[in-house]
Amino acid sequence: MADKTSPVKVGQVSIGGSQSPFTVVAGPCSVESLDQFSTIAESVKLNGAFALRGGMFKLRTNPESFQGLGQEAFGIVQIVKKQTGLPFFSEVTDPRQISDMMDLVDVFQVGSRNMYNYALLKELGQIKKPVLLKRGFSGRVKEWLLAADYVIKGGNNQVILCERGIRTFENCTRNTFDLNAIAYVKHYSSYPVLADPSHATGDRNLVIPMSLAAAAAGADGLIVEVHNQPDQTKSDGFQALDLNQFAGLMKSLEKLLPALGRRFQPQIG
Ligand code: PEP
Ligand code: MN
Repeated sequence: MADKTSPVKVGQVSIGGSQSPFTVVAGPCSVESLDQFSTIAESVKLNGAFALRGGMFKLRTNPESFQGLGQEAFGIVQIVKKQTGLPFFSEVTDPRQISDMMDLVDVFQVGSRNMYNYALLKELGQIKKPVLLKRGFSGRVKEWLLAADYVIKGGNNQVILCERGIRTFENCTRNTFDLNAIAYVKHYSSYPVLADPSHATGDRNLVIPMSLAAAAAGADGLIVEVHNQPDQTKSDGFQALDLNQFAGLMKSLEKLLPALGRRFQPQIG
């Protein structure tokens, strides 16, 4: 089947499309300190990640939980971006943050809780940077595609979808990873899709197998949580790969992707 995905360019790399390599975005759930973000960034870069992730504004279920460093993270991210030269994905939780984030963020992430936030999606339709649209945890695929259309309708056609698991009756994992959705959007839409096996499973022991499954299902890449001290994080430590596990994931992808006829180009160096 011909790949009809319209690629979206992030830095020097295209995501989606028949000529594009499988790509990996990696980093912590939240930016916590310069030492933490810089250590993780250097390590994931060395192992081939093409971009960094890290939340600055966090939407947490419990209002008492760590809400992200907010603007305090900006200086840290600036230093680490300069140090690594890698593009940066980060979640925008409120349309009023967009202008402040504009110079720092290469891809604006819309979190699962905001897939139905049409005011936010309309604002992101007005900008000229890519948007990573996570699937709502109870969002139907068709609602997710319509949410993407809100951004496109505003004039911004750089939308990348992200499957991050949905809530089902099954609760031994944090969410249920919907591989069907990946195959569906690859077949029936022209949006690139990244898989987030970290939130989809909520269990670091399941992240590598489900990453490989996502690649086999046709995902254009991954966005994965990685931490230098997974047991001491301020958010989502239970699902973060440690630095060695991330290196192992990249090695497994290097073996699997050629067998799938897919190109993998870790950005080593
Ligand atoms: C995240 O990426 O850290 C996050 C909060 O994800 P989601 O919106 O998918 O829950
Ligand atoms: Mn997280």
